Amino acid sequence: GQKVVLITGCSSGIGLRIAVTLAKDENKRYHVIATMRDLKKKDKLMEAAGDAYGKTLILLPLDVCSDESIRQCVNNVKDRHIDILINNAGVGLLGPVESISIEEMKRVFETNFFGVVRMIKEVMPDMKKRRSGHIVVMSSVMGLQGVVFNDVYTASKFAMEGFCESMAVQLMKFNIRLSMIEPGPVHTEFETKMMEDVAKMEYPGVDADTVRYFKDVYLPSSTDIFEAMGQTPEDIAKCTKKVIESSSPRFRNLTNNLYTPIVALKYADETGGLSVNTFYNLLFNFGPLMHITMSILKCLTCSCLRRRTISPN
Ligand code: NAD
Repeated sequence: GQKVVLITGCSSGIGLRIAVTLAKDENKRYHVIATMRDLKKKDKLMEAAGDAYGKTLILLPLDVCSDESIRQCVNNVKDRHIDILINNAGVGLLGPVESISIEEMKRVFETNFFGVVRMIKEVMPDMKKRRSGHIVVMSSVMGLQGVVFNDVYTASKFAMEGFCESMAVQLMKFNIRLSMIEPGPVHTEFETKMMEDVAKMEYPGVDADTVRYFKDVYLPSSTDIFEAMGQTPEDIAKCTKKVIESSSPRFRNLTNNLYTPIVALKYADETGGLSVNTFYNLLFNFGPLMHITMSILKCLTCSCLRRRTISPN
């Protein structure tokens, strides 16, 4: 029979593309429950889904920050039966920590961390009873490696990685699979929204040097990196489909092989010096050439590391 897949955050970007890709599976193997916080934003999804809407794809409201909204949504699913839960909803946060209020930081954790915890708490008991299920979480390379000026976003993804790494062990006992997807940069509204937020930023309480490092050093190299290494939401959707269709899905799934060397640095030197120094040099000494430097890094990394990504093709 068809597998029931519930996906969060489907009004744009990666979530939208995963929903449409699964709904258009040529063997119609999925019944997709595409969810979004605000149904008024459904047009893009509707357009992309075409005639799959109402057949292999249905739409329900769900705000990952609300217990009530999550419970209502899951109660609306037939027998509360969800085979595959894809936790995709997430928000970014960029800038010097001095200029970000604790309230704003909590909002990011509320969505990126507690949002996933809430979803898992609601769906897992039924999966446990059935002794089957697959939980997929949209993490990030920034769930594995800290990135300058993304301090709080990175922390929220690290929190989720820690939570899931711990959960995976008991879930295995119930025959429930847990997989993290760890993309590098992806061209979505995420990037646009963050750049809009940055343009409005006023940097209260931040010293001039820090503002300069952020605006004149970090932002241009970050833009370059997005240009040079960004993947598309289609790429991530294909990787996600591969993960859920694998007979033995992996726990961690980097999607961009340019990032395996970055993550490998951490494991190559347990003191942490190698990764901190490399990032320092990348940012402050190679800034404008950062993406070229990263390509060189990639070439220097042995093929066994490169094979460890999941490729979209
Ligand atoms: P996006 O902004 O297009 O999509 C995020 C979606 O989550 C939006 O539709 C948004 O409305 C939704 N959302 C936010 N708060 C919500 C809430 N409380 N309840 C329900 N939905 C909510 O960006 P995207 O790039 O498609 O991001 C999807 C996921 O991928 C996020 O978890 C993000 O952290 C992760 N990710 C993105 C990138 C990237 O470079 N774009 C890289 C790695 C990981």
